Amino acid sequence: AKESGRGNRQFYTPSMEASAIDVLQHERLLREAIVDNAFVLHYQPQISLEDGSLQGLEALVRWRHPQRGLVGPDEFITFSESRGLITPIGRWVMREACRQLKEWQDEGLALVPVAVNLSALEFRQRDVAGEIAAALRDTGLAPQYLGIELTESVLMHQTGQVLDTLNALKALGVGISIDDFGTGYSSLAYLKRYPIDSLKIDRSFVVDTPGNPDDVAIVTAVIQMARSLQLKTVAEGVETPAQVQLLKGLGCDLIQGHVVSVPLDAVALQRWMRDLPV
Ligand code: C2E
Ligand code: CA
Ligand code: CA
Ligand code: CA
Repeated sequence: AKESGRGNRQFYTPSMEASAIDVLQHERLLREAIVDNAFVLHYQPQISLEDGSLQGLEALVRWRHPQRGLVGPDEFITFSESRGLITPIGRWVMREACRQLKEWQDEGLALVPVAVNLSALEFRQRDVAGEIAAALRDTGLAPQYLGIELTESVLMHQTGQVLDTLNALKALGVGISIDDFGTGYSSLAYLKRYPIDSLKIDRSFVVDTPGNPDDVAIVTAVIQMARSLQLKTVAEGVETPAQVQLLKGLGCDLIQGHVVSVPLDAVALQRWMRDLPV
């Protein structure tokens, strides 16, 4: 309503108009970015706690913003979902991750699997299994070098479609991880129902360890449960040597976090890998 009564004035402040313009500008630039492919993947290493070897990579998308440099996904993934723009971005991420891995393989570099994030909306809207099969076929990458990370919100819906998609990916040989484990609508029933390979323990449970006994108890319980279910565990957001020691003692399989490396672009990652102890 555009009444000029005093009661309505608070809804039309100059700062709100400015922010509405900002939102439109953000959307316009994002649409241009999709046309121009103005995105880049960074890769964060996951290493084994047993021997320190590189075991996997997580692909994390960034936007090459015309004014602001590299912009992180928190500033455009949810936004692009709300504007109906996530599908082309998600498709690009999937194909680019496959393309890059195949390129490394062709260059004779040691290859470990790369995991791609798929939001609940993407999982619902896209033919994930069909697209992944096509991306693997078109790039020539072997399926065991690709994984997906899904949040618990995908799995809480008891739909046959989710089960069919995950079974199809499993049959292809693509790895399936539960991202941010413990932060969603936790029903442990889905661990039984779906063909899951690993649990990623959310950073929020790791960040205050080893000092916070409640968090230590949660992390301990998750690792024990995962081991009993023969799921691998990946601890996220590991930042300190004390956290590394704790997780190692608890039998966590892999760690990912700043203590190992921040996410790196393709060139920096190869440099980082060359410096790994053999
Ligand atoms: P996530 O999947 O939980 O990814 C981990 C995030 O934690 C990344 O942030 C990573 O840079 C950050 N991180 C890693 N190690 C540490 C650490 O030791 N300390 C701290 N403080 N942070 C750490 P990033 O790259 O900003 O990504 C944020 C989120 O955006 C991701 O969270 C993921 O949910 C989403 N995302 C990223 N790429 C994609 C994508 O291609 N598609 C979709 N749908 N979502 C994506
Ligand atoms: Ca993730
Ligand atoms: Ca995560
Ligand atoms: Ca997270």
